[in-house]
Amino acid sequence: MSQTMRVIVAGAAGRMGKMLVRAVSEFDGAELVGATERPGSGLVGTDAGNVAGVGALGVQLVDSLDACPEADVIIDFTSPASTIAHAKIAAERKIAMVIGTTGFETPALNDLKKILAGVPVVMAANYSVGVNLSLELIRRAAQVLGTDYDAEIFEAHHKHKVDAPSGTALAMGRALAEGRGVEMSDVAVYSREGITGAREEGSIGFSVVRGGNIVGEHKAMFIADEERVEINHIAADRMVFARGAVRAGNWLAVRQPGWYDMRDVLGFSDL
Ligand code: NAD
Repeated sequence: MSQTMRVIVAGAAGRMGKMLVRAVSEFDGAELVGATERPGSGLVGTDAGNVAGVGALGVQLVDSLDACPEADVIIDFTSPASTIAHAKIAAERKIAMVIGTTGFETPALNDLKKILAGVPVVMAANYSVGVNLSLELIRRAAQVLGTDYDAEIFEAHHKHKVDAPSGTALAMGRALAEGRGVEMSDVAVYSREGITGAREEGSIGFSVVRGGNIVGEHKAMFIADEERVEINHIAADRMVFARGAVRAGNWLAVRQPGWYDMRDVLGFSDL
């Protein structure tokens, strides 16, 4: 990597894309060198800094990663289909990727991993440091409390979100299952309606709220008859994800090819 991390933001006019442009412009040691939007977007050709509300940065939105200059990292918070298309270009050009897109079905995620086998990648359902700390706490709580405590995960997001449960809620479920030494797919209950029967011991229930402009709320509950432990995280501003993603990019730019997550970036895997 050159002294300054050269960053391309994919989907730079999106809700997260604009935050990412701002976070890159504020990060000491990072420079925005490219910004993309979907082909056909009326914003192609405009300055990414102006779109993000941070003033002109001299980087025009283009409609393809191929039209972007050499870079150290691509930060991609778009959609599963476009992230897969971007990954093919990143693999060809050997550019590291920070992926924030959620909502991948398992086969698509496996494709993504294959495509990106030769480059360093951080993928996280949530780039907030607080959420990643919560995942560690949930893993530990699940180990200590076991199945005597019924585990439920709640999440709430804005009305535009298209996938459910959120990637973060699923990551919490996986951390919880890992703490209990089980596979989440064996114990997850994603919906309840009608005569569901009594709660199955050891199951992990998910519940979802969508509305307004909620940035992101997640809560893991461990419920016993006599007490309840809750690990709760509330994100008040999307900048928290954008700053975490840029931090991940900075960490990633000097790594060997491999598939990493925020546990690695924050050093939790070494604890
Ligand atoms: P959004 O719809 O506001 O933004 C997505 C942007 O990508 C749009 O501007 C769209 O035009 C653009 N886009 C689509 N196809 C493209 C292509 N081929 N090339 C370039 N740009 C393209 O959505 P959002 O709220 O910003 O969320 C985007 C993704 O990030 C979602 O999957 C969301 O769940 C995820 N997300 C992740 C985190 C995290 O911390 N991991 C945090 C927030 C959101």
